[in-house]
Amino acid sequence: MSDTLTRRNFIQRLAVVGTVVVGAGALAACGTEGAGTDTDDATALACTDVSALTEDEKTTRTTLNYVDASVTEGKNCTNCQQFQPDAANATASCGKCLVVPGSINPGGYCDSWAEKTA
Ligand code: SF4
Repeated sequence: MSDTLTRRNFIQRLAVVGTVVVGAGALAACGTEGAGTDTDDATALACTDVSALTEDEKTTRTTLNYVDASVTEGKNCTNCQQFQPDAANATASCGKCLVVPGSINPGGYCDSWAEKTA
């Protein structure tokens, strides 16, 4: 009888230890990944605050499929005719656009992209 209890206890403890080890490993991995993400977020330029815009202006951004980071090779806001860069820092600050209301990322893109000619 005590032999059965010992075996049962051993298996239960093995399961608990295994769960703890797997859980600790998962937490460690999350901690490392989270630290990298925080660093990336701190250095990334985000021009996504639409809190000061009207509903119509927000709709324009959405309708034209504005994105903060272009996925269309060779096309982004910096080489678009409509982009109005920030005077103080053209590439590292949010700018404006003649078509899309609100803050515009130099690396952004939308359906109204037009090649800059001058
Ligand atoms: S029209 Fe579109 S691609 Fe051109 S600057 Fe404005 S948001 Fe960027």
